Amino acid sequence: AADLPHLSDTDPTAKALGYVEDASKSTDPKRKPGDTCANCQFFTGGPTGFGPCQLFPGKSVSANGWCVSHAVKKA
Ligand code: SF4
Repeated sequence: AADLPHLSDTDPTAKALGYVEDASKSTDPKRKPGDTCANCQFFTGGPTGFGPCQLFPGKSVSANGWCVSHAVKKA
């Protein structure tokens, strides 16, 4: 897969959605334990590393990341 630039926590769009590359560092009360990009329906990457997120076109997000738009992937 093409290497998309990693989304930075300090990117304005990332900040707007409370994205953090390390979900465990999120202080957002909306985050439930265990929620990460890896189990979000908008993530199309693998279980580890970085991959695309439908909400951040042109960037890759961390499988271990999180943002407020997290929605659990349907089985
Ligand atoms: Fe991660 Fe989902 Fe937020 Fe995208 S929408 S950054 S995959 S939690």
